[in-house]
Amino acid sequence: MTVNKAPAPSANHCSRDLREWLTHLSATGRLAVAKPGLGLRHELAAVSDRLEKDKAVLFPNPDGHPVPVAANLLAGRNWIGDCLGVSEDDLLDRYQDAVRHPVPWREVADGPVQAVVHRDVDITRQLPVPTHNELDSGPYISAGLMISRNPSNGIQNVSIHRCQISGKDRIGVLLLPRHTWTYARMAAEAGRALEVAIVIGVDPAALLASQAIVPLDFDEMEIVGALHGAPVEMVKCKTNNVRVPARAEIVLEGRVLPDVMEPEGPFGEFPQYYGRRANRHVIQVDAITHRQKPIFHTIVGGGMEHLLLGGLPREASLLETLQRNDPSVLDVHLSRGGVCRYHLVVKIRKKQEGQAKNIMMGAFAGHYDIKQVIVVDEDINIHDAEAVEWAVATRFQADRDLLVVGNTQASKLDPTTTDDGVGAKMGLDATVPLAADDFTFTVIKVPGADTVDLDKVLDDPGAAAAIIADA
Ligand code: MN
Repeated sequence: MTVNKAPAPSANHCSRDLREWLTHLSATGRLAVAKPGLGLRHELAAVSDRLEKDKAVLFPNPDGHPVPVAANLLAGRNWIGDCLGVSEDDLLDRYQDAVRHPVPWREVADGPVQAVVHRDVDITRQLPVPTHNELDSGPYISAGLMISRNPSNGIQNVSIHRCQISGKDRIGVLLLPRHTWTYARMAAEAGRALEVAIVIGVDPAALLASQAIVPLDFDEMEIVGALHGAPVEMVKCKTNNVRVPARAEIVLEGRVLPDVMEPEGPFGEFPQYYGRRANRHVIQVDAITHRQKPIFHTIVGGGMEHLLLGGLPREASLLETLQRNDPSVLDVHLSRGGVCRYHLVVKIRKKQEGQAKNIMMGAFAGHYDIKQVIVVDEDINIHDAEAVEWAVATRFQADRDLLVVGNTQASKLDPTTTDDGVGAKMGLDATVPLAADDFTFTVIKVPGADTVDLDKVLDDPGAAAAIIADA
C-alpha cells in the first residue's frame, strides 16, 4: 500500500468549498496541473488514474473547453483526515459525530453559483464532461451531488448518481432503490416529475456527507454543516424549488421525468467491472447555473477517489452499528482489495468465545454490500492487508471458524450475484481462542529491533572488502 505524505492536519481546518480545498492542496504540494488542452475522452482519466494515489490534478482547457476540470480530490485515506481536520485514527469518530449532531443549512438570497445562468441548455457545450473507462457509453457527470426534495414534505436528500449525457438537455441516471428513487416514485405516483439539482464542484466533506448511511428524510446537507462547523449557505434554484449550496461551482437544474425510461450504461463502477446498459430514469435539464470561471469536478469510475468516498462513510456507520451491539468492537476497515465495500475487517477485544460470529452476523445485517467479514484481535493492524492475512493464516481453522450464509441480499454490482442481487456471506474468525495457553500464541520478537540506532552500530560499507577477502 502506497503511503502518501500529508501534513499534520490543523485543528478544525475543514475546507468549505472546492476552491479552499484546491488552494490547500496546492499549498501542500499535492496539486498537479496538466498542460492545457488534454482530451476529455479517456486522456484526462488516464492522467488522473496514474496519479490516483499521489496527487490531485487540474486540467485547463480540456479539448479547448474554457472550463477546467479537477480530479483526484482525495488520493488517500490520510487526505480525508486532512480535509476533516482530524488525524487518521479519529476519522470514523469525527464523521459519526457529525452524523449524530447535524447542523441545519441556512437559506440565502443569492450566491456565486448563480453568477451565470443558462436557460438554453446544451450540456457538453457549456460543461467539459469527460469519458472515463474504455467501455463507458460516453461522457458522464460522475461527481454531482444529486439534491432532490420529498414531494410531500419538502425535506431534501443528497446522494451521488452516475449521470450519462443522453442529449443536449437530457441525462440518463441510475437510481438504485434508495432515497432519490423513493422520492421519484412518490412524485410519479402523483403523475409529476421530481425536481432535482445536480451540484458539481464541492469540497470533499460534502462529498463524504452525501454517502452517509442515514434514514429516508435525513438531509445529508446537515452533516456537511456539522463537518464544516457552520451551517451551509443554500440558494433556491432558478427553475425549481430545490436548494443548492451557494458556494458550489456548477448546478444543473432539472426534473426526473415520470414513467420515462431510456437506455443508460455501460459505466465503469467501483467493483472494477461495468454496470450494464439498461433502461433507467431520465432527467430533463431546465437550466445550468455556475460561478464566474467555474471548475468542473470529475471522479474516475472505479478509481481511488470513488473507492475512498464509498468506504469511509460505510465504515463509520458499520462501526456504530457493531459497537451498539457489542462494545468489544474497537475498529473496522473496508479493505481496498474488497473495493472498499465488500470485505470488512473488524478488530475486537474478545471477552467471550463465539462473539466473533455474532459480530459477523451484525455486519452482514448492517449493509447488504458486506460479503466477507474477518474478525481479528487488538494486536492486528486492520489497515495492513498483509497483517490481516497473517492473522487468518495463524489463528483461523475453516472447520470451526468459518461461517457461510447462502441466498442473502448482496451487491447487484458484484458480477457473481444473481440478477436480483442474491449472493452469499462469509465470516472468518481469526481471533486467538481465549483458552489458549500463554505460550502457543506468543508472537516472536527480536529484542532491540525497534530501538537499535543503526547510525551508531553500522560501519562504512567499504569495510566489507577486508572481511570477505580470502586469507
Ligand atoms: Mn439519503
